[in-house]
Amino acid sequence: MPIDATKPYDQNNIFARILRGEIPCRKVYEDPHALAFHDVNPQAPLHILVIPKGAYVSWDDFSERAPADEIAGFVRAVGHVARENGLAVRGYRLLANVGRNAGQEVPHLHVHLFGGGPLGPMLAR
Ligand code: AMP
Repeated sequence: MPIDATKPYDQNNIFARILRGEIPCRKVYEDPHALAFHDVNPQAPLHILVIPKGAYVSWDDFSERAPADEIAGFVRAVGHVARENGLAVRGYRLLANVGRNAGQEVPHLHVHLFGGGPLGPMLAR
């Protein structure tokens, strides 16, 4: 069920619980600003999610409210994860679903990194 992006941050969403260590993930990378882990239902040969450690519902929320150090740390982490996992060399797709029209399901900002092979058209036709 896509989220209502106008709602306040839900402290019990699944990625908040992963950040608190309450449920496991297949961790790829962690630093003070970000956590990266494999998507549980991969849509590409390699499908990694990168999330900020701060409580932000979406890219819209993050870009409006996050302080500059958190934004810089998160953006650096996304690039680092892509490079460290061999995605930058052959190319990859970076995507963040925001709200209902995009079908965002988890109400904690996450960037999808897709790669590992040709990815096809950008949007379903
Ligand atoms: P979105 O539709 O952009 O909100 O994407 C949510 C993504 O989170 C989907 O690709 C799910 O497969 C993924 N997901 C949901 N729960 C978990 C989990 N516990 N661990 C890893 N990925 C998850």
